[in-house]
Amino acid sequence: MSYWRNTLKPLLDAEQGTLFKQAPIRVTLAFPNRYGVGMASLGYQVIYRMFNQEEGVACERAFLPDDVDAFERTGQTLPTVESGRAAADCQLFAMSVSFELDLTNIIRMLDVAGMAPLRGERSDSDPVVMIGGPLTSSNPYPLTPFADIIVIGDGEQIVPVVSEALREAASREDFYDLIDGMPGIFLPARHSHEPQWATAPKELLPAYSQIVTPHSELSNMFLVEAQRGCPRPCTFCLARTMYGPNRNNQAQELLDTIPDWVTKVGLVGAALSDFPHTKYVGKTLTERGIKLGVSSIRADTVDAELAEILKAGGLRTFTVASDAPSERLRRWLKKGITTEDLLKTAQISRDLGFKGLKVYMMIGLGPENDDDISELIAFTKELAGINRIALGISPFVPKRHTPHFADPFAGVQTIEKRLKRIQKELRTTAELRNVSAKWAWVENVIARGGPEVGMAAYSLYRNESIGAWKKALEEIGWHDEFEANTPSIGLPPGQYEPREVSAHAQGLAI
Ligand code: SF4
Repeated sequence: MSYWRNTLKPLLDAEQGTLFKQAPIRVTLAFPNRYGVGMASLGYQVIYRMFNQEEGVACERAFLPDDVDAFERTGQTLPTVESGRAAADCQLFAMSVSFELDLTNIIRMLDVAGMAPLRGERSDSDPVVMIGGPLTSSNPYPLTPFADIIVIGDGEQIVPVVSEALREAASREDFYDLIDGMPGIFLPARHSHEPQWATAPKELLPAYSQIVTPHSELSNMFLVEAQRGCPRPCTFCLARTMYGPNRNNQAQELLDTIPDWVTKVGLVGAALSDFPHTKYVGKTLTERGIKLGVSSIRADTVDAELAEILKAGGLRTFTVASDAPSERLRRWLKKGITTEDLLKTAQISRDLGFKGLKVYMMIGLGPENDDDISELIAFTKELAGINRIALGISPFVPKRHTPHFADPFAGVQTIEKRLKRIQKELRTTAELRNVSAKWAWVENVIARGGPEVGMAAYSLYRNESIGAWKKALEEIGWHDEFEANTPSIGLPPGQYEPREVSAHAQGLAI
């Protein structure tokens, strides 16, 4: 049974906007996760279009099969979506990786495509492996054992540089010489430190979808980026540093990207309610009968007019981020949201007939204690007295390129204990969803790890589990460099009692 004919062809037939091109330089743009997840990634879609716009370059997509083991048992080679050619039959095998926990999927993707995952075990007859995406900007080091090129920053800036080098290079080394030293290009075989991030000039924005499909996790939704970056100072947030300076697009620029046949538009932006044209664009689209999708909205900027536009756009639930369980911790994070703002948003959502309010929350923040959790429980009960509440709780994972880069991870036991208390006290009050504390611990290890963490992932990628991670990290002698740091509510994030830190820990600083 052909995997392409039975699985990929029906997906292909359901797409609008697919690009079919033949050219001497073949690029495979692989996504190390399922088709539906990859197709919901705006960055992935933009890079797909940009490679296909390059002279002499044809780009096709490949995804990790839903059941990789079953696919491998068929003995087939991983095909691309567009033509069904072998994914590894290309000059450039480019991958986009969003999350730390996709590290093992990156390795699996290379394996299932028929390539040796380790850079040192591939030869010049293999495609060049290039890895980009949000994870590479956050922490590229665990990817260094696998990638020939790591792209850091805005991909729009990189595609023309890499394409030109592919056209001109006479050999593999020649190709590396041509791109070496360019902003955002990290060649792990030649350099040990990440380069300056690539920042796309305004004229390459806005980013917008190429393909719309019902099989995306954002079904039938056309995505367009309202803004990149964020002007706010929230200290824990990687988006404001990773996406570079805040760049707002013009309302008309966004509207011009949207084809006539589109029925649903997702506005993408780190802080959409700060984007000056959200209301105008939203109103214009809803007047054309187009449904709207937005990510979370800052609770301090919600007003009835915005809520009405979103309701007219088909939104049934309002989403806001509290991010910290108490007022004092939100202040510590410079979040700028008060309990009052959250209560006001709940009120507006109820008054306008929204079915509920979804609130994102982090626990396990440095100075957090049981009183902060008590406050979370109390104000959730208050919110639930106004409208239906869904609480999405994630353990806090400190990230590089933020002032929290050396904060300790709160620990699986502490987080599980707090989650248990929240579940016990709010079980009948709010709908609760939480990220596993144990997997957050793995995310925390990868988020600040080096090549040795990449090699630990390599040792377990076919049988990943928490137990396998513990064993693999023990074997490489991993220890938590940050657990002795003690953040304090009286000190700004990133300041602790002085203590000795290793060169690795110092190297993680901004
Ligand atoms: S948390 Fe939101 S508002 Fe704050 S910096 Fe990040 S994107 Fe901006």
